[in-house]
Amino acid sequence: MTEDAENSLRKSLIRETLHFLGWRGEPLDDTLIRQMRRAQTEMVQFEVRKTYGVFPYSQGQVLGTILQPEGDDIHKLLSGSQSVVLLSVTLGDACERYIRKHLLLDAGYGMILDATASAMIENACDQIETELFKTIVPHGGDLTDRFSPGYGDMPLAQNKEICSILETGKRIGLTTSSGGLLIPQKSVTAIIGISDKKQIHRASPCENCKNRQHCPMAKEDSHD
Ligand code: SF4
Repeated sequence: MTEDAENSLRKSLIRETLHFLGWRGEPLDDTLIRQMRRAQTEMVQFEVRKTYGVFPYSQGQVLGTILQPEGDDIHKLLSGSQSVVLLSVTLGDACERYIRKHLLLDAGYGMILDATASAMIENACDQIETELFKTIVPHGGDLTDRFSPGYGDMPLAQNKEICSILETGKRIGLTTSSGGLLIPQKSVTAIIGISDKKQIHRASPCENCKNRQHCPMAKEDSHD
């Protein structure tokens, strides 16, 4: 990775971590910055494990699989898609235990570790999207926004089907409870549609943020 890419990744991790902590552009204090840097350094010991696959999609069915995504929101999102990407990302059990231990020792720092882990998951999903954009957009296609079970009216239980299709238990150590909760918790599954038409994307939170003009963390990168 180049130095610029590494700096941009660090900045994006810090921005996401701050947002998971509820930050909205207030001045940052040095202790918090130091603790976030420490958390990043400690969390690199945990590998972000991910797996994804592309499947044909038609009439509400992910073809060749057991998955029929449920809910108006996901149907609307995928209405122009001819195929979908199913993806899953996890930081694993050891990471979960590490965060839990620190939450008991020092709740404040434990929360920073927890937010850093969430930011790492988010970042890994963004990286998968960027890889997909690079292969799909030059051929005239586009991706929809990412959507996960539990968002909007898509049932959380559909995590089970996505994990089963991607064999996440075997491949990355990610399983689900009977109700569809991901185990370990610091994990995500998602669906992205692939369409031959240009898609309308959700605005990035920075685009509509009243602090954008002065925020040192405002997002500059975009897929467009
Ligand atoms: S401009 Fe972006 S990074 Fe800054 S506070 Fe607003 S949403 Fe967060």
